[in-house]
Amino acid sequence: MKMVTIVGARPQFIKAAAISRSVAAHNHAHPDRLVQEIIVHTGQHFAINMSDIFFQEMAIPAPDYRLEIHGLGHGAMTGRMLEEVEKVLQREAPDCVLVYGDTNTTLAGALAAAKLHLPVAHVEAGLRSFNRAMPEEVNRILTDHLATWLFCPTPVAMEHVHNEGLDRRAGVRVVQCGDVMVDVLYHFAPLARGHSATSRAGIADGYLLCTLHRAELTDDDGRLARVFKVLLDLAREHDIVMPLHPRTRQALQRLDLLPHGSPKLRVIDPVGYLQMLDLLDHAGLVLTDSGGLQKEAYLMGRGVVTLRQETEWTETVTAGYNFLAGFDPAAIHAGVVRMLGRHVDNTQAFYGRGDASQHILASLVG
Ligand code: UDP
Repeated sequence: MKMVTIVGARPQFIKAAAISRSVAAHNHAHPDRLVQEIIVHTGQHFAINMSDIFFQEMAIPAPDYRLEIHGLGHGAMTGRMLEEVEKVLQREAPDCVLVYGDTNTTLAGALAAAKLHLPVAHVEAGLRSFNRAMPEEVNRILTDHLATWLFCPTPVAMEHVHNEGLDRRAGVRVVQCGDVMVDVLYHFAPLARGHSATSRAGIADGYLLCTLHRAELTDDDGRLARVFKVLLDLAREHDIVMPLHPRTRQALQRLDLLPHGSPKLRVIDPVGYLQMLDLLDHAGLVLTDSGGLQKEAYLMGRGVVTLRQETEWTETVTAGYNFLAGFDPAAIHAGVVRMLGRHVDNTQAFYGRGDASQHILASLVG
């Protein structure tokens, strides 16, 4: 079987690591039924610490195609990707096209494939925030509607797929397989222990680990300024380590809001996955708007304060491990007080047991 995998953004490289490892394991076990994986990197994320570091650290095979498309608005970026991915798909004529998550790369890959009548496999299907102002929500709904294979990580995602009637379309296969991020974390967490600890050097364990990157924050100057004021307030009492996404850095620089002279708020460049796991392992609490980090915090037994109005990952909210604070300063402060040091029982397999990528591959290989 020949499969084209389309990636372009940080969380997709991390998820692709799980599937690529399963492809290698499958090929080792079944030399008579080889899976050929062709990797296309659209270039959406291109800095070394947002892209290449993941391929190196996580032993993801180097991309067969690098499209180098970045730095454009949504329309131009998606359009250019559509054009270039189509050329690759025409040349490679794969049996299926694998896309991950909810970025412009996901949508462009799925649309190019569907127009060529190639089966699309969507990993992380069925997630919904029910907020169509988010570009990610539009991308994921459209991709689910284009997909032949919908690989849902959770029962909640299965429910959304059912409610939209996607499981009743002819030829569509819906599989509840768990979340590939669990596979990745279980594999890499032991390797991350003792990995470079430079980003937390000199800081006692129990700090707040913070990542923020969503457009609903970075594109709203007033909101961004308010949230950074909260972080500075929190940094009077708590150490904060913040690997800063390039988009957030750019917005803060534009507004001259990059915090200087706050000894307890440590802003650093984005880190690789192993360093991120090490940071999580020593943190007391996570403050984030990241989808992936909400799950990883749970898996590592840490509470989360989510700086969004809603989340696709409702399981940890319902369980009381994830406080949905939105952007209101008082709610963020209250969330930190409530969640810091909270006991998190991470043995409930909300996101599966770490074998999602095996299920996905087994389904595709048939
Ligand atoms: N991550 C990382 N380094 C960082 C920040 C995040 O390796 O400096 C990882 C994080 O652990 C998670 C993934 O990137 O696995 C999440 O990506 P992101 O927050 O960009 O996207 P989202 O999950 O919200 O789609």
